[in-house]
Amino acid sequence: MELELPDGTKLELADGATGADAAAAIGAGLARAALAVKVDGEVRDLSRPLSGDGPAKLEVITERSGDDALALIRHDTAHVLAAAVMELYPGVKISIGPAIENGFYYDFEFPEGVTVTEGDFDAIEAKMREHIAADEPFVREDVAAGDALERFLSEDQDYKVELIEDLVRNQGVHSVSLYTNGPFTDLCRGPHAPSTKRIKSFKLQSVAGAYWRGDAANKMLTRVYGTAFFSKRDLDEYLERLERARALDHRRLGPQLGLFTFSEVSPGSAFWFPAGTRVFNSLVALSREMGAERGYTEVKTPQLYDSSLWKTSGHWDKYRENMFLTESEDRPLGLKPMNCPGHAHLFSLRRHSYRDLPVRYSEPGLLHRNEPSGTLHGLLRVRHFAQDDAHIFCAEDQIQEQVAACLEFAFATYAVFGLDVRLELSTRPEQRIGREELWDKSEAALTAALEAQHLEYTLHEGDGAFYGPKIDMHMTDSLGRSWQLGTVQLDYNFPERFDLTYTGADNAEHRPVMIHRAIMGSYERFIGILLEHLAGELPVWLAPVQAIVLPISDRHGDYARAVEARLREAGVEAEADERTESVGRKIRDAELRKVPYMLVVGDRELQTGEVSLREHGKGDAGSVAVGEFIDRVRSEIRARSAR
Ligand SMILES: [Zn+2]
Ligand SMILES: [Zn+2]
Repeated sequence: MELELPDGTKLELADGATGADAAAAIGAGLARAALAVKVDGEVRDLSRPLSGDGPAKLEVITERSGDDALALIRHDTAHVLAAAVMELYPGVKISIGPAIENGFYYDFEFPEGVTVTEGDFDAIEAKMREHIAADEPFVREDVAAGDALERFLSEDQDYKVELIEDLVRNQGVHSVSLYTNGPFTDLCRGPHAPSTKRIKSFKLQSVAGAYWRGDAANKMLTRVYGTAFFSKRDLDEYLERLERARALDHRRLGPQLGLFTFSEVSPGSAFWFPAGTRVFNSLVALSREMGAERGYTEVKTPQLYDSSLWKTSGHWDKYRENMFLTESEDRPLGLKPMNCPGHAHLFSLRRHSYRDLPVRYSEPGLLHRNEPSGTLHGLLRVRHFAQDDAHIFCAEDQIQEQVAACLEFAFATYAVFGLDVRLELSTRPEQRIGREELWDKSEAALTAALEAQHLEYTLHEGDGAFYGPKIDMHMTDSLGRSWQLGTVQLDYNFPERFDLTYTGADNAEHRPVMIHRAIMGSYERFIGILLEHLAGELPVWLAPVQAIVLPISDRHGDYARAVEARLREAGVEAEADERTESVGRKIRDAELRKVPYMLVVGDRELQTGEVSLREHGKGDAGSVAVGEFIDRVRSEIRARSAR
């Protein structure tokens, strides 16, 4: 048989040759390093014969093969975990254990009365290390489905029995593959590395509940998560990165900074404390102010609409599962998941002339989306949120200029936060409404707007919204993660569906075009991203407490309160910390709260009318007169300067 290697060289092998034979034919070093082979994109065990039909592309997988190699040993480690767990917990039932992004898991049903927690990891890991030290080969065996069924039935492995029965019933499978390492045998499609010793470094990470087959009607199993790498250094680096991300997790920072929290009484909806509400409102104010400068007008539209509106907008057909529905007096109603239908309807309630265009409606309207509870994630995935949302109704010949203006607005907003963005153009998706020629026109208009300004962008075909193509804006945060922020979406469909018109200069009725745009996106999500990106250190203008006055002892309390009052009068969010704690303790606490400015006041400050200034994360900044400090902070707030 003939194979082609990644560098284009041809390799001639006898029929029936295995992946191991192929690696050996290339070189002895490669044969030793080989973990598996990839044949025409499919990763296979070294021990399996290569398929004989036709020339195939072959790549030998080694430790250096990146994700393919990691996925292999992570799946190996899942088997080793199951082997260890079966030895330590007789009677345990095993279900499935795949490799996932960054690691693996295995789901178990422990015998009645047995609970496994992270406290048991040391013992399990020790047992796993025995299996790795023993260098157990992973041996694949293809057996008749009936034989495999009998085997797992006799072992009371109900989940394996169910899996085999399903394979037979749904896929007409006659034989299944089993993998054995040491005393442990699993029903498994493979592939696996040659032996357990190829797992160089692993760690069990957490325990969680997981329903069998992800269905809440089924039994809750115990899922053990872990990860594996080819070196201790890689593992340590990964764990460190994870630890950093955990410390910066907005779900932790939010409550810690007194901004917001969540409660089971309203899943997926944040409860904002006063400090968090201030942050939220500051962002809304930013959007309002910048919008007003750019010709936007704010509107208010209802929360709840008759199903007829959702039918007109297409949501009833394409988006109903994501909506919260209710009814009143036999009329089906839906809570708005987007502002657009309300804005389109609002536009239709008045006559418009070409002289009014573009009409730019903005509204930080409250939106509800019925996201499955399992996908909710802090502020990043919520059921209740508001966006810096706007809809522009314009004439066709205004599109390019309006899209360009949206991009300018977006870049100006991101500049306030020092964020760099990348642009992506997404075109018509499979699930869509509207005629093909409208899609052609919209896609061409967005492309023209980008190219006229010589903006760089990447193309994502099929990723558009169901009503139109879009330009999305993405940032990379301080942890190297990518987030989508803003979007500009062009839409010929809504104006048709809502029969929107304006009177042209020719006195005839014309159809406007609608542009949907958001820049920060959802305020909730933007705050979550910002908190993690900035490690909770919000810039002064956005910080919920901008300055905190710290009296050294009780007798400086009056002066501290007077300074606080002066700051507040000047529009600076200030607090005085009058607890009977040492000033050192007060400074530490203020640092933890990431308050930008700490004003220490004692005998000397009382006499001179000054404050001793400390900056968060920077320390002592010398004495300064209260008035001078106020001028400085106010100009920082006014300029919305980054910290
Ligand atoms: Zn497996
Ligand atoms: Zn919209």
